[in-house]
Amino acid sequence: MISRAVRNLGWTGGILFRVGLTVLIGALLGFFIGRPWTGVAAALAVVLAWQWRRRLQLLQWLMRNSSDSAPEWRGQWGELATAMLRQLKRKQFHKSQLLRVLRQLRQSTTALPDGVVLLSPKAEIQWFNDAAMRLLRLATSDQGLRIDNLVRYPEFVSYLRDGHFESPILIRSIGPVEGWLSLQLVPFGEGQLLLMVRDVTSQARLDAMRKDFIANASHELRSPLTVISGYLETLTSDDTLDPLLSGPLVEMRRQAQRMNGIVEDLLSLSRLEAADREAPREEVDVAGIIGQLKKDVLARAVHPQEVMVVAESQAKLLGDTLQIHSAFHNLVDNAAKYTPATGSLHARWWVDADGAHFAVRDTGIGIPAEHIPRLTERFYRVDAGRSRATGGSGLGLAIVKHVLQRHGATLEIRSSEGKGSEFICHFPPDRVQQVTLQPGTNAL
Ligand code: ADP
Repeated sequence: MISRAVRNLGWTGGILFRVGLTVLIGALLGFFIGRPWTGVAAALAVVLAWQWRRRLQLLQWLMRNSSDSAPEWRGQWGELATAMLRQLKRKQFHKSQLLRVLRQLRQSTTALPDGVVLLSPKAEIQWFNDAAMRLLRLATSDQGLRIDNLVRYPEFVSYLRDGHFESPILIRSIGPVEGWLSLQLVPFGEGQLLLMVRDVTSQARLDAMRKDFIANASHELRSPLTVISGYLETLTSDDTLDPLLSGPLVEMRRQAQRMNGIVEDLLSLSRLEAADREAPREEVDVAGIIGQLKKDVLARAVHPQEVMVVAESQAKLLGDTLQIHSAFHNLVDNAAKYTPATGSLHARWWVDADGAHFAVRDTGIGIPAEHIPRLTERFYRVDAGRSRATGGSGLGLAIVKHVLQRHGATLEIRSSEGKGSEFICHFPPDRVQQVTLQPGTNAL
């Protein structure tokens, strides 16, 4: 009954009650021997010694790291031990859960067909799976070493240095197994990196076969087409021919010219794709090229009424003249094709701190937003009927994209349906050769 009453007092009350009772007993015993204070001091010493003993026992229990059961003590020490045991068990449960998840994660990444390498913020190898070991020929002893000291492909070294990890890079792997590897870095955590390695040899082979096929087919089509076009040309200029045939012959000649255009575009694309390296760095007279392009537009049977071409800089571009001419021609030609005679076409070439830029703006039919991301795909046309009617092959912007890629440049497309479009080529500063002459605006 007393113990229940003590428990009801709560922790502090219980302690005070027990200490008070011991001191009272000590005082009474001391009173009987005529020294009540000595009795009180002795009682306090007993309380202190007992508490000290419990503390030591608790410490020993904790040191034994026994998590099976708590010492069966009554009172606060018992409750303290039980609470500690509960905490200990909870911690052990979370730890085992975490270890299980980690083990599963390791097993699954080890089983992955793709290589995974975990890198520290300093690009040192922390861990890798079996596939990475095989594909990159890593060894267990490589852990702790910088990845670029082991994977020494120049493309990878500059990829790691530049920090633009949005898309993977392709490298030609050499060694026991020749092939193609796709490498992609994925940042995570606090500056750490995950290197994903994939063997893309079979896709690369298929891609190469597809490119070869297109190049060969286009090449083979070229000669018969030239012969057909030649005969059609002769026939259409023959005055003795039945007038009833002249209409179909003109149409046949037009279609043959279209086929020629497609074959030439396919061959240009194949040549661009076959060139592994970036474009050469010849001096390209952009002002001269765009002046010629203006003349080409004005020579069209139908063209926008206002055609303005402005070279704000005489700076030369360092690139491939033929490729740049073909890309800029495609952009200007499209603007002329997709803009009514009442509209306007503005082309502009300028240089600033970000590099050089060539923009072609028109007030034509515009492009619905959902088509813009796919415009540079081969044969992609917003309106196939209209494109065919204007003599388009759907390859022009694919050529532009490839040419720009070879020059380290990008294409920006802005368009609003029914209002017009703007295509801007952005060239990096290292592709621009500045002129020392006084720069000035030059309307051509
Ligand atoms: P195409 O030879 O058919 O013009 P491109 O690759 O040059 O092929 O262009 C792809 C498509 O993008 C075109 O079919 C057309 O629908 C659209 N396009 C390109 N330039 C313009 C422009 N300036 N205005 C409107 N639509 C355009």
